[in-house]
Amino acid sequence: MLELWIPISEIHAEGEGLTFADQVLWHEAWKEFSLPVEPARDLEAVVTIMPQGGDGALIRGTLRGSVKLVCDRCTELFEFNIDVNFDIFEKIPDEEIGEEPRVRELNGELQLDIGAILWEEFLLALPVKPLCSEGCKGVCPGCGKDLNSQKCECDKEIGDERLAVFRNLKIK
Ligand SMILES: [Zn+2]
Ligand SMILES: [Zn+2]
Repeated sequence: MLELWIPISEIHAEGEGLTFADQVLWHEAWKEFSLPVEPARDLEAVVTIMPQGGDGALIRGTLRGSVKLVCDRCTELFEFNIDVNFDIFEKIPDEEIGEEPRVRELNGELQLDIGAILWEEFLLALPVKPLCSEGCKGVCPGCGKDLNSQKCECDKEIGDERLAVFRNLKIK
């Protein structure tokens, strides 16, 4: 997601709850990273930020909603539910490591990039191989028809090449 720095110096140690429900943040990020994601149910993040030790914070929260993804087999859009809980600690990084800071001090004020955190949680929630259903039949490699909704005239005898090796096996 785009950077979204929020001041946390004033937050009490017991924490402060915040809700992020602005869909524009997500839509812009999908566009920026060319992710094949379409909006479905609004994404809502509810987080509690608890400052720790003067240079870091505990961030506890949930991210809920749904998005539309492209099925890896049939290329149709399908709705994917997002429902994650997270509990992470972020602090000002050591200078040598050179990682993207998510906590920084600016003009004596401690700030947290909640945008980077929510974006990472979103990416982690996405499936590695999106499928509209476990049993999706996909697209026929011969004629290109969506086998979930159409019958295909291609030769059924060819079978799955990967299974060919098992055809001649005999169980003793
Ligand atoms: Zn599919
Ligand atoms: Zn076919």
